[in-house]
Amino acid sequence: MSGLKFTVEQIVWQEVPGEVSLAFLFSGCPLRCKGCHSADTWKEGIGTELTEEYLKGRLKRYRGLISCVLFMGGEWQPEALQKMLAIVAQEGLKACLYTGLDREELEAVSDGILPYLTYLKTGRWQME
Ligand code: SF4
Repeated sequence: MSGLKFTVEQIVWQEVPGEVSLAFLFSGCPLRCKGCHSADTWKEGIGTELTEEYLKGRLKRYRGLISCVLFMGGEWQPEALQKMLAIVAQEGLKACLYTGLDREELEAVSDGILPYLTYLKTGRWQME
């Protein structure tokens, strides 16, 4: 499987309350929720690869300006995501994951992700 690829990278203020976050939206979400706002990113392999070097460079550049890193998805590549979370932790930043899974499903995918998270937003998008 290819590495984690993102289609959007931006600094966000609202998505994680009280934090200034560097956010990455990953492509390849397999859940296919009806009404998904990011359906254009479902296709696996589109976007730019998030390498460890790239993330480290970004965190260096934004040092002192951000307090958190938000990953939107990526739990379908748990090992790669865990590596990125470890880098975030090394920088002393908080981490947030938006996942379409619930907590139990996420634990089933990987028990290595949760310990790194300061914030977790779970659950599939529901149209209503
Ligand atoms: S989990 Fe999120 S990104 Fe994935 S299909 Fe559902 S709403 Fe879209």
